Amino acid sequence: MKAAVLMEKDRMEIARIPRPEVEEEGVLVSMTQAAVCGTDLKLIRSGHRDLSLPRILGHEGMGEITASRHPAFQKGDRVAIYPGCFCGDCPACRAGHTSRCETIRIYGFNRDGLFRTVIPFSAKEVSSLVRIPEKSDPGVVLAEPVACCLSALGRFRYLEKTTALVVGAGAVGSLFTALLLAEGWKTVLVADRNPRRLSSGLPRGVRTMAAGTGGLRECLERDGWGGKIGFLVPCCPSGLDWPFWEVMRPGGGVSFFSGRGRKTEPLALDADAVHYLGLTLAGSYGCDRKDFVFAASMLARKRLDLSFLDCCRVSLSELEAGLDRLRNGRIRKVIIDRF
Ligand SMILES: [Zn+2]
Ligand SMILES: [Zn+2]
Repeated sequence: MKAAVLMEKDRMEIARIPRPEVEEEGVLVSMTQAAVCGTDLKLIRSGHRDLSLPRILGHEGMGEITASRHPAFQKGDRVAIYPGCFCGDCPACRAGHTSRCETIRIYGFNRDGLFRTVIPFSAKEVSSLVRIPEKSDPGVVLAEPVACCLSALGRFRYLEKTTALVVGAGAVGSLFTALLLAEGWKTVLVADRNPRRLSSGLPRGVRTMAAGTGGLRECLERDGWGGKIGFLVPCCPSGLDWPFWEVMRPGGGVSFFSGRGRKTEPLALDADAVHYLGLTLAGSYGCDRKDFVFAASMLARKRLDLSFLDCCRVSLSELEAGLDRLRNGRIRKVIIDRF
């Protein structure tokens, strides 16, 4: 069978690896779909805090149980795969925050990932599997990025759903936008410095703004949004590198959702503005299993319709060509649907 292995920085290979055996109380999952995201590109190009090599990539995917020695799973069950392997027992896990598990291993980062034909799960690891209905919408493959958005949004549930601003119209920016609209935010603005990214692949009802982070404040003020942004989500590394506090409404929220890449300078921030405006700033990284379960069930039943997203479908062997299209920014998402 095949696997996409990152051997070293910038060198990914489609390798032949032995088919796994099913362990006692374990299962085998044959992959049906996996999605490639910007983080995978980043891993290949420049590594990541949580990456060790060589590594089979992939942290977004779903499959079918093809062998089971575990009482809770049967051959034929469809599953979405939560990308964290957590202990279930530490204080964070017990509080439901599996993404902060003391010993978490992340598929495609520090544990082999989902870009392979068949994946073995041990008795300990089956807690990463979330059963979904047999006739689930294929959009379930995006449960992980949607769950990351839900996880970030979960820290701001108290906000009045006025005007939200998403900075960066890549795949995650587009998904976050869809989620905000679905949750009833009155106005959702999405800004990107690349006007082409604003011309397609976004949900209906969003308002677009072509502006780099440098000129974003001016654009917002010119269009009458100064002081009116109730919720700000950066969905690109430079999403907070501008005086964003100047456009926030009192009591607004700012999600520290995207990492800032390899920046050497710490973020400049007007602490007095945060103080006087009573802003809430909250970080978020990854997603808890409960967010993933919620996202998978929402997508399986098409309660969040992501058909607007521009995707291309490839086989695992064609992954490199798919990555190129992603690098060129021609599409937002690559789905592997043949393994
Ligand atoms: Zn991802
Ligand atoms: Zn734990």
